[in-house]
Amino acid sequence: MHNLEGDKIEKSEGSDKNWHFHPNLPLSNSPVFHFPPRMGPVLNWFRNAWLNLSGTTILVILAVFSASWLQPELDKISLEAVSIMTIRNFTLIFVIAGSLHLWFWKIQVQGEKFKYDARSMATNNKRFTLANQVYDNMFWTLVWGVPIWTFYEIVYFHAFAIGMTPVLTFREHPFLFIAMFWVILLWKGLHFYWVHRFLHHPAIYKTVHSVHHRNIITGPWSGISMHPLELLPYFSGLLIHLVIPSHPVHFLFHAYALALNPAFSHSGFDALFIKNKRSLKTGEFFHQLHHRYFNCNYGTPEMPWDKWFKTYHDGIRHKGKPKKAKLN
Ligand SMILES: [Zn+2]
Ligand SMILES: [Zn+2]
Repeated sequence: MHNLEGDKIEKSEGSDKNWHFHPNLPLSNSPVFHFPPRMGPVLNWFRNAWLNLSGTTILVILAVFSASWLQPELDKISLEAVSIMTIRNFTLIFVIAGSLHLWFWKIQVQGEKFKYDARSMATNNKRFTLANQVYDNMFWTLVWGVPIWTFYEIVYFHAFAIGMTPVLTFREHPFLFIAMFWVILLWKGLHFYWVHRFLHHPAIYKTVHSVHHRNIITGPWSGISMHPLELLPYFSGLLIHLVIPSHPVHFLFHAYALALNPAFSHSGFDALFIKNKRSLKTGEFFHQLHHRYFNCNYGTPEMPWDKWFKTYHDGIRHKGKPKKAKLN
């Protein structure tokens, strides 16, 4: 059996001494960048992400919903409009991160099924704000994460309302309009890889990025639990919509991919298990490896920046590094 990139699967999904659950290993990146190109895996990759109910399609639905019904005009930045957008974003993070947290960690509806790391999140540990990992993660998310995310939305929607953004409409360019959702994920992968490498510079890591890396075990609220000096560059990728033609739906999809998708990808569980069925892919083992080993997988699986720059951990070995990354 082979993974999407054609590597022989060395370990089928299950558990081993390092993980309570791991997916098929070695992990594959997007087969779009595999050479020579293979049509079957590429179609599979797109079908799984875009034609099924997935974290990605949920974000598209939310973006269409918000842009259509919950987005005020912002030609003048009024308190009312800003309040609507702020309440909308607090509601979204509570609904997504809150319900995933209740399901996986608080009520533990599916027990330890598909849980990557058998350990619990920390309570009574001074490393965390309020000595509790979940409170710590909620604090950084709600006090800094949501306001900074909302700030970028205000900048964009004000620029859009006064006609300062180039606009791409479905009616004029239907193919490009649809392709743009995928292009956004490529841009997000590129931007995140380089911002993230910068955040790992020792001087910056110590005071800034270490807030996010307190979480070796991660939960839904860990997603954007970050220092404000990390959140500012993290969300700055959204500014591309001020120069590249796009639509408010694209912008909101991009914002949700940055603000809400991390609640899925950090959930600590590979999938939602409902009625004895794997119902929705949630966790991202690729990024879980980053939280355990630190010096690998800085990007996303959508683009192989880690492979190109020899920082890739495929779940079995750290490619490009002769020494084995150690367990923390
Ligand atoms: Zn993370
Ligand atoms: Zn990091």
